[in-house]
Amino acid sequence: MALAATRILIIGGGFSGMSAAIECAKRGAEVELVEIDPGWRSYGAGISLGGATLRAFRQLGILDAFLQQGAASDGVHLRLPHGQPIGELPTPRLAGPDVPGGGAIMRPVLAQILAEATRAAGAEVRLGCTFTSIEQDADGVDVTFTDGQRRRYDLVIGADGLYSKVREALFPGAPKPRYSGQAVWRAVLPRPQHLQTITMWMGGAVKPGVNPVSKDEMYLFVTEHRPSNEFVDPASFVPTLKALLAPFPDPIVQTVREQLGEGSQIVFRPLEGLLVRQPWHHGRVVLIGDTVHATTPHMASGACIGIEDALVLAEEIERHAGLPQALAAFQARRWERCRLVVENSGRLGEIEMEGGSKDEHARIMRETLMALAAPI
Ligand SMILES: Cc1cc2nc3c(=O)[nH]c(=O)nc-3n(C[C@H](O)[C@H](O)[C@H](O)COP(=O)(O)OP(=O)(O)OC[C@H]3O[C@@H](n4cnc5c(N)ncnc54)[C@H](O)[C@@H]3O)c2cc1C
Repeated sequence: MALAATRILIIGGGFSGMSAAIECAKRGAEVELVEIDPGWRSYGAGISLGGATLRAFRQLGILDAFLQQGAASDGVHLRLPHGQPIGELPTPRLAGPDVPGGGAIMRPVLAQILAEATRAAGAEVRLGCTFTSIEQDADGVDVTFTDGQRRRYDLVIGADGLYSKVREALFPGAPKPRYSGQAVWRAVLPRPQHLQTITMWMGGAVKPGVNPVSKDEMYLFVTEHRPSNEFVDPASFVPTLKALLAPFPDPIVQTVREQLGEGSQIVFRPLEGLLVRQPWHHGRVVLIGDTVHATTPHMASGACIGIEDALVLAEEIERHAGLPQALAAFQARRWERCRLVVENSGRLGEIEMEGGSKDEHARIMRETLMALAAPI
């Protein structure tokens, strides 16, 4: 099915939806993207990215912008709470010999890069807008919108994230997001110049790490076990985060701890996961990204698999004469990889909470990294 003259609607302008817009528009489709947030904002601190994500950035055409505005480096450094190095996880250079094997960037900066690329690719973006109904027949999909418009498309891509309304409309019986028992704290801090790459401290149920997001800044992430998903008063963020870092005497961690104060922008997020069983499509509507596979961040690969969905979907639509074949081929290429990331990340969280086997933890990380390194 030639993508030229194919009318595609994307619902949701996060990393997955924007990537789908770029890739489909580049291949000639007429793309519209609706995003419910009138400000098209992206929240949170930094986001860590592996080699597979950088490889996907190269295909999308945003790798240079990422390298200019983010930070890239090789390897993952592991330390004990006092600071003794205990090893380094290799990060193969999947985006090419000239590109480090991983990195990180501020979320709003990545969102801005993708938003510019979405518009540059020719997609029509409507902000502060969402669907009110989706009705399909054999030849197309009629969608009505909150701005009163009604339009017809050849394909609708639902990319509206973890609490997706498109998923609810398409698969009312699909599972709901499930709290994992862990929460993550994040904050952005000045980067000491000697800190070049992601560094994590392996202790008990609390796991801090830092990752450079630009030449001058890094982000702190701290995973902790919280048996119940209760409201946490923002007034308690600073003392709670400082208390979590107290048992890590490494001077890097203690410097970070001293820098935290009332002016710090701290983001607290309980971790939820979701894996919707296949198929992720029905008729002319298909779901991608967190909408169907929201992973906890233990492998830092949630954005990666959502962006890869977009690349594979565009390729398969172009490759097949009919949409049913294209969507079946998309599903076949995506299920196992996404399942593996979601389930393995979930298991890593369980091991951390149980104080379980370090060997199993290391084995799962290795296996998942190897699977992610394989071509998509
Ligand atoms: C604490 C935490 C840390 C993480 N760290 C990492 C990491 O280091 N590396 C990594 O790769 N991944 C990480 N992830 C995962 C990653 O953030 C997600 O997988 C990724 O952002 C999903 O993108 P998405 O576009 O599929 O969904 P979303 O980012 O949720 O985007 C959905 C978009 O749809 C819009 N929307 C919602 N409802 C509607 C509607 N009804 N109509 C129209 N628009 C709508 C939203 O406003 C949003 O813009 C982390 C996740 C968490 C929770």
